[in-house]
Amino acid sequence: MATNAEVITSSEGEVFDIELETDILRVNKELALENHRVMREHGITSIDVMGSVGSGKTSLIKAMVSILKNRYRIAVIEGDVTTTIDADLIAEENVPTVQVNTGKECHLDANLIKKALARLKLNELDLIFIENVGNLICPAEFPLGSDKRIVVISVTEGPYMVVKHPMMFIEADTVAINKIDLAQVMEVDPSKLRNDIATINPNACVVPISCRRNDGIVEVGRSLGLD
Ligand code: MG
Ligand code: ZN
Repeated sequence: MATNAEVITSSEGEVFDIELETDILRVNKELALENHRVMREHGITSIDVMGSVGSGKTSLIKAMVSILKNRYRIAVIEGDVTTTIDADLIAEENVPTVQVNTGKECHLDANLIKKALARLKLNELDLIFIENVGNLICPAEFPLGSDKRIVVISVTEGPYMVVKHPMMFIEADTVAINKIDLAQVMEVDPSKLRNDIATINPNACVVPISCRRNDGIVEVGRSLGLD
């Protein structure tokens, strides 16, 4: 796209502490594999839920827990910088919930998930939802060891959140487009979002939803193999 703005791009090696960062990502990957193995050994399916602040991650998890908790023994790991607002909401569903406060960090990492798993009775679980910190950038770089990854976006975030954050969508199994009932008011075209997602990741399953109206929740579950 043509632009009149002056553009500065950071090139390889220019970022501070590049070696340190590579090391962190490598260790994170190893821990993620370990988390995955531990959950697999216990027959647990795990789902990493990512998306911006306010996209509806907690609402979607709560709605899914509500319809799936009769068939699966579920726990939720809630990532947040400081608060327990989301964990308190999920607790209304009477499922085990672990709050992980990241402090300054804007994403969950595999080490935090390892600690959270140690707090759960894994023998008594079939399914774990992990709500990542609201952020569309770095969670993509930090696998946690989950089986599936879902990105929740909403039409209230405007028309460009997919093209601006391609890395988030590359490895997503499902993308839920939330607040679909507000699409017209927001003048956001959901089919344009769908095309943007398909261009980045043709394998992602795209599901329009409205958590407020409880629409599309079952379909999200099905797209993740939860029936
Ligand atoms: Mg939330
Ligand atoms: Zn981060």
